[in-house]
Amino acid sequence: MQYKNTLEFAKELDQKDELAFYRNQFYIPKDKAGNNWLYFTGNSLGLQPKKAKEYIDIELKDWAEKGVEGHFDGQNPWVTYPESLSPMMAKVVGAKPSEVIIMDTLTANLHFLMVSFYRPTKKRYKILIESDAFPSDRYAVQSQLKFHGYSEEDLIYWSPPKGKDLLEMDDLEKILAAQGNQIALVLIGGVNYYTGQRFDFKKIAELGHAKGCVVGIDLAHGVGNIKANLHDSGVDFAAWCTYKYLNSGPGSLSGIFVHEKHSYNTSLPRFAGWWNHNKDTRFNMRLPFDVMSGAEGWQLSNPPILAMAPIKASLEMFEEVGMEALREKSIKLTGFMEYLFQELGSEAVSIITPKNPEERGCQLSIQVKKATKSLHQKLMDKHVITDWREPNVIRCAPTPMYNTYQDVYNMVLILKDILKDY
Ligand SMILES: *Cc1c(COP(=O)(O)O)cnc(C)c1O
Repeated sequence: MQYKNTLEFAKELDQKDELAFYRNQFYIPKDKAGNNWLYFTGNSLGLQPKKAKEYIDIELKDWAEKGVEGHFDGQNPWVTYPESLSPMMAKVVGAKPSEVIIMDTLTANLHFLMVSFYRPTKKRYKILIESDAFPSDRYAVQSQLKFHGYSEEDLIYWSPPKGKDLLEMDDLEKILAAQGNQIALVLIGGVNYYTGQRFDFKKIAELGHAKGCVVGIDLAHGVGNIKANLHDSGVDFAAWCTYKYLNSGPGSLSGIFVHEKHSYNTSLPRFAGWWNHNKDTRFNMRLPFDVMSGAEGWQLSNPPILAMAPIKASLEMFEEVGMEALREKSIKLTGFMEYLFQELGSEAVSIITPKNPEERGCQLSIQVKKATKSLHQKLMDKHVITDWREPNVIRCAPTPMYNTYQDVYNMVLILKDILKDY
């Protein structure tokens, strides 16, 4: 696409934007002076869908009027609430409805999934992750290693070549060639939180499986952002939170994916609770545990319905829009931001996120060479919210569900002005 560096051009793109309607389906936060924030942190906490409150209110009303009967007799019966979201959730991540379920929170789910999918043996016990994995994931796998009697030394890092920021598939191949038969689990962040680099899951699954490793993906920065095609990729499992691009509210629940090939594998060890017991006899309380097939077979607890209601509000929008159209806008919107950064012609700024749209989602990670955290504050003073990461990176996520081309244009203009001092 041929971009132009003018406000008129940004306005024109907004007028032609077929998804423009959706911005108004969200609350856009304002600063103290009443200006709309230029909000580029949908990768951290997505904005509130206006319908979230209405959907929570439905459940509060059923609770008020029906009490425990809301489980079976509510407008959205609570006993089937989580699985009622699975068809929509599955489309967003490219899975079959039976392969996904929304439950618990992300880091907890990574542990629950590792109960089944990290099965160290004498010869094969190491875990491989990307070198700059999200800290929670790193802590989780380190603690799993220790829990099983191994050490942090048994954690292998897939690192970028010296002096570079991005990971290269060749290096993963080399690690797997050298140590693959000692690696029990490969766990990769599908889109890296820091660089915004998106990985080819299918390729990673093929490489890992060829060496007999289990392959899992943390999709926290990918869900609602890229077309993940989890089923076709063949990865064994995945998990994600729903409060980033899925706009479900602070600390909200997580989704998990367990590939169909493991659906009926009752020999996999897993933790149990009444919610992964056969639904038909769940309330018959005295029967021995009878595990459900599919991803539902990893649930433990009766889920928090008030936290699920905003997820429903959000997923309905993803269902209407579809990942195809969302991604199409996303590529244009992020492409526009990238173009404007290049137009700055500033030596002070470089983008570490891959240039190829296939290798990234909507986020651009911008390195401002001489910047300190004060840059972030200066942006805030001009009502621009981005995310600051030490030592000198601002992460910007133009989120196609609600950001406009004018947001992007105005943000880069403001940054340009601030950069005069750097
Ligand atoms: C956001 C994020 C988390 C956060 O996990 P919670 O358990 O929801 O706090 C973990 N891992 C990755 C890769 C993330 O992006």
